[in-house]
Amino acid sequence: MFVVKRRKEVNPFFKRGRPTDFKVGVFIPLPYEAAMSSTFTHMAYAFLNGVDSVSAYRYVYDFKEDVVEALDSNLPFNKLDMLLVSTSFEFDYVTLARVLLRFNLLPKVKGGSKPLVVVGGIASTANPLPLAGIADAVVLGEGEAFLEKLPEISTASNPLDVLSGLDFVFTFSSDVIKRRYFVDDLNASYYPRIQVYPLEEEPIYGHGLRVEVSRGCRRFCAFCMEGHVMNPFRFRSLTTLRNIVEYGLKYSPVKRVVIYSLSLFDVPHADAFLNYLSNESIEASIPSLRPDYLTLSRLEVVKALGQKTLTIAPETLNKHIGCLIGKCVDQETLSEVLSNAYRVGFNHVKMYFIEGFTEGDVEENVTKLKNLISKLVSELNIKKRKFFRITVNPLIPKPWTPYQYLPPSYVLNLRKALELYVSELKSKYVEVETYDVNWGFAQSVIALGNEETSNLIIEWARNGLGISSFKRALKDLSLNMFKYVSHGWEDPPWIHRVDVGVNTKYLTTRFNILRHKTFKSF
Ligand code: SF4
Repeated sequence: MFVVKRRKEVNPFFKRGRPTDFKVGVFIPLPYEAAMSSTFTHMAYAFLNGVDSVSAYRYVYDFKEDVVEALDSNLPFNKLDMLLVSTSFEFDYVTLARVLLRFNLLPKVKGGSKPLVVVGGIASTANPLPLAGIADAVVLGEGEAFLEKLPEISTASNPLDVLSGLDFVFTFSSDVIKRRYFVDDLNASYYPRIQVYPLEEEPIYGHGLRVEVSRGCRRFCAFCMEGHVMNPFRFRSLTTLRNIVEYGLKYSPVKRVVIYSLSLFDVPHADAFLNYLSNESIEASIPSLRPDYLTLSRLEVVKALGQKTLTIAPETLNKHIGCLIGKCVDQETLSEVLSNAYRVGFNHVKMYFIEGFTEGDVEENVTKLKNLISKLVSELNIKKRKFFRITVNPLIPKPWTPYQYLPPSYVLNLRKALELYVSELKSKYVEVETYDVNWGFAQSVIALGNEETSNLIIEWARNGLGISSFKRALKDLSLNMFKYVSHGWEDPPWIHRVDVGVNTKYLTTRFNILRHKTFKSF
């Protein structure tokens, strides 16, 4: 369950820690390639090792071998003072629970002994309740304030007491509403300009300096938890971005950056930044983009930066629904973007769609997409195999979005709809992937869970990490315990425990609008 697996890397820390140092494990419950693409890994590792009395060590998880891999030291978790766990998705809780079970480190078992298990991430910020029997504390919001407090926490006789007193740290024994922390000014905040560069394994999105251009998003798409929970929209200035790139690339073996932004072209100087990269012959990985602002010149720059696949997220071709959910794109605009992408020379266009915004019109949605693709294939004489890469996800209800009132079981109704996309669209030119509704259901069960859901997560983790273990755990614990799974919440418990800065009146009003205009049975 635990191995030391050091990697060949450029820029790792070799800190000669003292035995008295406060020892922090930075654990990303994902494989090394995914963990190294997280900006938090780089930030926490660099920041904490820069603090005099703290030593930080990285840990990742290998799913194939079912082991925790220590990257920097042979210290097992029970020799650490704190385990700082960065979770990106709800399923990371299951992996974490499995690891803590194996090491006898679940709160009930370890009692007050070390390490303190502190979790952070978007999903746990939105709803920390399902981590009740798994973590000691949850950091709400962005990690900077917590990292800055760590020197103080590390010298306290009871660090958990200090954590409980922080406005942005949620602990399960207190009923006080805690507030999400966010950085006001990204230009003034700490950024890891020198980053660890893996030499053996390629991180997700490829090698290169991770550059976070913006945080939050101003679009508030109805289904998007990130867009709601990471508000407000903030961005780094062009000067700061250039400074990060110029400095960071001096320490990087490749002249390439990986851009992080939820909505890149909403940043006023996005064009100037991309042009700067292009003029400096710096390659870039560009995140998924909204199609509504993809002009020909922007596509040309993205292509010139070395991007072979253009990734866009129209989510729906139904303009009426699109405008209701925050993706107001008409078919003509999308058609133009796709034509331009082909002409500019992209090898593939990856498109994300979501099914489930409405009930009963899946045939219409599939036909629209099929017709659009057929028209483009014939008009442009497309010859590239699998030029269109389509991913269709089920609508997954998440906390702090208007869809938080839908039950998780709603996802299971979408199985046939997703199958129709595959059977109707797959061709020489079109690759179709769909997200398994069972996993979507499980994701929503955790996302919309309460304290009792942590028992489900622990039981799931005990039996393995597969979907059959989830189903067994759900059956064993009896559905009566989890009424919300099939009925949803009228009054979601998390809105009484955390304040993420989203008005609940807005959520109910928008849900009612969406419900009346799109759903028949809710
Ligand atoms: S534009 Fe993207 S990131 Fe922003 S709210 Fe919409 S889906 Fe979320």
